[in-house]
Amino acid sequence: MSLLKLSNIRHTYKNGKIEVNVLKGIDLSIEEGEFVSIMGPSGSGKSTLLNIIGCLDKPTSGTYEIAGKRVEKLSDGQLADLRNQFIGFVFQSFHLLHDLDALANVELPLIYRGIGARERHRRAVAALESVGLGERLHHRPSQLSGGEQQRVAIARAIVGEPAVILADEPTGALDTNTGKNIMAIFQRLNKEQGITIVQVTHEVDIAHYGRRIFHLRDGEIERHEVLDHKSQEV
Ligand code: ADP
Ligand code: ADP
Repeated sequence: MSLLKLSNIRHTYKNGKIEVNVLKGIDLSIEEGEFVSIMGPSGSGKSTLLNIIGCLDKPTSGTYEIAGKRVEKLSDGQLADLRNQFIGFVFQSFHLLHDLDALANVELPLIYRGIGARERHRRAVAALESVGLGERLHHRPSQLSGGEQQRVAIARAIVGEPAVILADEPTGALDTNTGKNIMAIFQRLNKEQGITIVQVTHEVDIAHYGRRIFHLRDGEIERHEVLDHKSQEV
């Protein structure tokens, strides 16, 4: 059974009388433990697709199953539970809270889940250590480099032990080397912890860290590429 299975997904945005068909029948399935990239030009529907995969948005039509559960049949509350249980998000612009230090940012998702203070602290420290930020627990985002801020965001994404990380242009705000470091972290989480990674990027080099690449154009998958994994082992 696929972990994520989209069948004939369509999405239309309505602005007043104007309708824009942004996704035009997407079929894709992703197995547990995969690392896949979604590429495509600006406006091709990548963010919309990722928002649907992340249950932040419901498709206009089509079916979407996460671990065999039909997403469109769930209530908003059930959807939020599913999201919390399965998915960690990483964004281009980090989305950290600036008044909180790294530790408090990473603890946040656990607060929403009602996990007690001691356990929260323990798990947040472990997550930050696993991305190499054990020495930066009490730095605020403004005191951290872009790469470090993205690592805090990754720690926040993994602290709830999700099955999947969804990343929207995770290296888009970073220089090339820092971007590669972020990809090395994704590779490690994928290989060692079996976390499924789905990332959107418009950078070819970054996309190639995945094992498969879906090429999106005008709301359709125009090409699906399976890469030779051995060529990019680090
Ligand atoms: P990408 O991530 O590939 O740049 P998006 O999914 O962000 O593509 O957007 C695809 C198209 O949908 C674009 O034309 C964009 O302007 C439009 N779009 C995205 N979000 C909305 C929205 N909330 N309302 C109306 N149009 C939108
Ligand atoms: P990012 O670069 O972080 O992906 P975008 O600029 O693509 O951000 O989009 C930011 C937000 O604006 C998204 O939630 C997207 O759905 C929304 N959006 C994008 N295009 C439009 C549009 N034409 N009309 C309304 N909302 C849009």
